[in-house]
Amino acid sequence: MIQPIIEQGVIDRLQRLINGVKNIVITCHLSPDGDAIGSSLALCHVLRRLGKDAIVVTPDMIPRSLLFLPDVKAIVTYTQNESRARKVIETAQLIFCLDFNALHRIDKLSPMVMGNSCPKVLIDHHTEPENVFDVMISFPEASSTCELIFRVLMQLQLLRLIDRWAAQCLLTGMMTDTGNFSYNCEDPELYEIQASLMRRKVNRQWLYNMAMNTFSADCLRLQGYALDQKMKIYDRQRVALITLDADELKRYNYKRGDTEGLVNKPLAIPGVDWVVFMREDAECIKVSCRSVGDFAVNDICAKYFNGGGHVNAAGGDFYGTLQQAVKLFEQILDELFPTNLTQTDNLTNNEIIQ
Ligand code: 5GP
Ligand code: MN
Repeated sequence: MIQPIIEQGVIDRLQRLINGVKNIVITCHLSPDGDAIGSSLALCHVLRRLGKDAIVVTPDMIPRSLLFLPDVKAIVTYTQNESRARKVIETAQLIFCLDFNALHRIDKLSPMVMGNSCPKVLIDHHTEPENVFDVMISFPEASSTCELIFRVLMQLQLLRLIDRWAAQCLLTGMMTDTGNFSYNCEDPELYEIQASLMRRKVNRQWLYNMAMNTFSADCLRLQGYALDQKMKIYDRQRVALITLDADELKRYNYKRGDTEGLVNKPLAIPGVDWVVFMREDAECIKVSCRSVGDFAVNDICAKYFNGGGHVNAAGGDFYGTLQQAVKLFEQILDELFPTNLTQTDNLTNNEIIQ
């Protein structure tokens, strides 16, 4: 039994908002992932089946790994078609904001979205959402925004409109945001939702292979190189650091999305509880962090890297060189794990004799 977790008053309000409009825009965060695109496409599809003029607008390009999703070509991407993105946002009567908690996460779309006085609905699972939305459906404990879209549709009594097509999009986001149900995956209701989606004839094996297990040879070689040559393990602090500079990325013909999943790999080592991955992008050093247990990497990203995220998966940006970013990382280690010289177990025998 899938329990209703959203307050009925919120659902009633959302219902009234949807009933009263025709033009609906759905938007999601920069560098969209499977959850952002999956939730946006699924909601868009259901709203169209309800007779609405719904359209998805993204701030930037959709990664290659998601181009297999149905109707992905109908998405308006701001960086490719600025005037169309501006026009549909300006004429929207209702805007859904999916899979992000703060307006800067939609980059250049933010002033357009806020410039339209129409109601804005947030559906998201990141912590501390900004208080700028008219309806807030924010559940940081949820596995994914796709899970939340299913729950919203269930409470709106619209499950009948989730067809095979929409189910495929929702399952993609649930799979990608949980590493194919390997983390954030303890809620038994997730499997009830999955079963409900599977009954709509989704080909799960195909979906997994398309969304999570398709890599170019260059991409596999780059990841192999990163793990073999560029992974540094700090035993005492139980952390692994991987860095890739622009030359290295060029050598492996790097395309966006090619390092997706790399940051999770060192967590497989028993002595590693958290991982930091730094990649030199055109404008900044992109920082990506993962952890296990209650080591909060979102706090580190918020404090040092202009970012944020979830307790066990977070990211941010560093403005400076890769060397400076690594230096900052090592300063953070000194701050978090100071060496206590009064403890002899931190000293080698040699040092104690001297
Ligand atoms: P990834 O490491 O896959 O890029 O991001 C993991 C999670 O960290 C994302 O789901 C998102 O919640 C968060 N995140 C990544 N980059 C940023 C960023 O620049 N700013 C903020 N606030 N969160 C980020
Ligand atoms: Mn998500």
